[in-house]
Amino acid sequence: MKIELAESYGFCFGVKRAIKIAEENKNSATYGPLIHNSNEIERLKRDFNVALSENLHSFQAGDVAVIRTHGIPKDELALLHKRNVDVIDATCPYVTKPQQICEEMSSQGYDVLIFGDEAHPEIKGVKSYAVGHAYVVNSADEVDALVLREKVAVVAQTTRRIEDYQRIVAKLMISHKEVRVFNTICNATFDNQDAVRKIAKEADVMIVIGGKNSSNTKQLYSIALDECSSSYHIESDEDLQAEWFDKKDFCGISAGASTPDWIIQAVIERIKLLSSS
Ligand code: SF4
Repeated sequence: MKIELAESYGFCFGVKRAIKIAEENKNSATYGPLIHNSNEIERLKRDFNVALSENLHSFQAGDVAVIRTHGIPKDELALLHKRNVDVIDATCPYVTKPQQICEEMSSQGYDVLIFGDEAHPEIKGVKSYAVGHAYVVNSADEVDALVLREKVAVVAQTTRRIEDYQRIVAKLMISHKEVRVFNTICNATFDNQDAVRKIAKEADVMIVIGGKNSSNTKQLYSIALDECSSSYHIESDEDLQAEWFDKKDFCGISAGASTPDWIIQAVIERIKLLSSS
């Protein structure tokens, strides 16, 4: 069986940057998971003594708190500073951008519409920057239920599909006089999405590697599934099952933006083993 990686996959700029920042700040703690990959978080703990704390109140004056790639709500950041915690910001610049837009546009009197998952840390963070009204929708259908002002500004979660964002914008254009659209979907997402679509069209089995709670991995998996019905979302080589590769000729592989190379390599080695036995 042929095994091939998508042309673009895995770690993006923001995750590489956050990991480097964490490695440079030994004996610190991240507030919330630095990235959505539990294996990599364990490695940072083991090799760099970078702990993980989900409790804001565990940080005391003088502690070093590394802010995760998805960012945190504005009031929580303010509280850390107020407590004299040494804050090291590893928020991805592509996430800081929609936070700034949300703050700026809402203070100019726009209702801000955020396309994303309300429960996701990135969106909780972005929404917290609004000084006026901000609403979160997960699909174009949810727009109908909203009563928005004439002036609307729109941002999207960095990992969303552009086609879904376009549907939301198209709907707003019909019902509103002024719609300010900011394309906050990040290029790393585009590249990995285009590449997974391309390889999934050819493959007869697709393996998408990444955390089960990683939004961008779930998107990649959904695209893979659109093109190849034998697509599987796994977190590590331990999730692989031999029967997935029965009578298959071409296995395509993609990985989410927080999946480290050592996990991808372990998956490839195990697929080789399973498909040859
Ligand atoms: S996927 Fe994009 S927005 Fe998210 S961390 Fe990576 S570079 Fe930043």
